Amino acid sequence: MLIKGVPASPGIVVGKAFVLKPETLTIPKYKIPQKEIADEIKRYMDALSLTRGELIGIQKKVEKELGESYPDIFSAHLLILDDPALREKTINIIEKENINAENAVAQVLEKIGMTFSKIEDKYLRERAQDFKDVGRRILKNLLGKQEETLANLADKVIIVAHDLAPSETAQMDKKNVLGFATDVGGRTSHTAIMARSLTIPAVVGLGDITQRIESGERIVIDGHEGVAVINPPKTTLERYLNKKKQLAVLEKKLNKLRKAPAQTTDGHIISLMANIELPKEVELLDRYGAEGVGLYRTEFFFLNRSDIPSEEEQFQAYKYAAERAYPLPIVIRTLDLGGDKFASVLETPKEINPFLGWRAIRFCLARPDIFKTQLRAILRASVYGKVSVMYPLISTLQELRQANKFLEEVKVELKKEKREFSQKIKIGAMIETPSAAITADLIAQEVDFFSIGTNDLIQYAMAVDRINEKIAYLYQPASPAVLRFIKHIVDSGHRKGIKTAVCGEIAGDINLTLILLGLGVDELSMGPVAIPEVKQIIRSVSIEEARKITEKAMSFDSTEKVVNYLKSVKEPLKLLYKSN
Ligand code: PEP
Ligand code: MG
Repeated sequence: MLIKGVPASPGIVVGKAFVLKPETLTIPKYKIPQKEIADEIKRYMDALSLTRGELIGIQKKVEKELGESYPDIFSAHLLILDDPALREKTINIIEKENINAENAVAQVLEKIGMTFSKIEDKYLRERAQDFKDVGRRILKNLLGKQEETLANLADKVIIVAHDLAPSETAQMDKKNVLGFATDVGGRTSHTAIMARSLTIPAVVGLGDITQRIESGERIVIDGHEGVAVINPPKTTLERYLNKKKQLAVLEKKLNKLRKAPAQTTDGHIISLMANIELPKEVELLDRYGAEGVGLYRTEFFFLNRSDIPSEEEQFQAYKYAAERAYPLPIVIRTLDLGGDKFASVLETPKEINPFLGWRAIRFCLARPDIFKTQLRAILRASVYGKVSVMYPLISTLQELRQANKFLEEVKVELKKEKREFSQKIKIGAMIETPSAAITADLIAQEVDFFSIGTNDLIQYAMAVDRINEKIAYLYQPASPAVLRFIKHIVDSGHRKGIKTAVCGEIAGDINLTLILLGLGVDELSMGPVAIPEVKQIIRSVSIEEARKITEKAMSFDSTEKVVNYLKSVKEPLKLLYKSN
């Protein structure tokens, strides 16, 4: 059975499944004689202490393995543990009803659940989930049950779960984990991001895979294509094993190019950079031969947590990334919330067209409190490495000016406070709206570089929602429209003397490497694992050839013709295996 999902972390693995299914807890109910009430309360308090110890343990482990900047959800859980709403009410019920602690906890949780369910607010509803998680831990400790954990896996397995919480992955015995497959999630869900940081193959968003497989059954995960195959027949299995072998050979070959530049046969060089979501991912730069970070998506910091990260917390994360990357440069993108990324704590109103709505720089300009805090943190971190700042979703020159005005204000503040920052920090604009693309000549005069966010530019250029399956056929990176947009942006930048990067998913697509090269793009920024293959393609052609191919491709009147031509003229797969 083949199930299609979202490719979250590349690599192919075959192995036995370990299916993590939430266990249903049976809550006993019995009377406690009056003289034993004090003991029952003590038993409850002991369970709280045990839970506290567990939570602190996991919090420390997460911090150690994923860095301090990983969203700290465990502090919130610890606060809940001490919340009178939970503790005192439970004790009250034990005393008044003379019943056992498990039953009292369950009653309180049910009441809290009911209260929360009536609330519309998304943030508060998510807090209810936190209460449930903590409550479940307390109940397990009262019942003397072991938390089902990934800490002591006896064999090497592929973890299949509905979703994986950071607490679960933190406890995971990593040497025995071959891969992840989950029911839910997208490329920026916890599981996906963690899998990439840990470089474990993963496919997420597989629907109901946990219902279709039992522990012990064989499963194949293809993290490149985003598929999982349950109990594959022999021929399918052989095909995947073959592909895995080929990829390993290719990886070995390409690894030799790690330190080599992305240079064409006639000496034209472009930069290959990494896209990251967590500061810790900076460690992957060396491994894949990235020349720096071309896009650090900072919004991940703001998701999956119940408060807004402070300036200090952000500063520590950016400083860590800048220091670890040094002497390589990093581009920190300011907050790009909205669209499909919402921070529950910010309580932004529901919109009919979120991708056309209050997102990215538009949100930041309306919330200087949040924006300036982030700019302060980025500026303060700028003395620890080669840091640039980049604004997402610029639509007009005026927006860029407003953003820069805030940046200048923050510089003045920091100067007054005698805090250090790099005066000459470079500023970039993401070009991802048609209005910015078409006025790129104006915007280019007031920034140091462009970075084309093709994920968004394609959706706005084609007027096609990037996450709507029904119209996915219109999401065409190689359409004549998109190619003309890119050409116009690159040329406008060059005329004003600034460089243009591409940092959307197409930067890592080897089928489009030649055309991006031929269009004159100066830098490609992608998920770090894609870098070796893109580099090999670049090193196997001349810039002259790439320009000719691009010119021809630009003359076609349909995406299909462009795609077919690009595939046939210099087959990317052949270029990958070519020896040079
Ligand atoms: C893009 O739009 O291409 C981009 C890189 O930004 P994001 O995917 O985070 O919107
Ligand atoms: Mg974007």
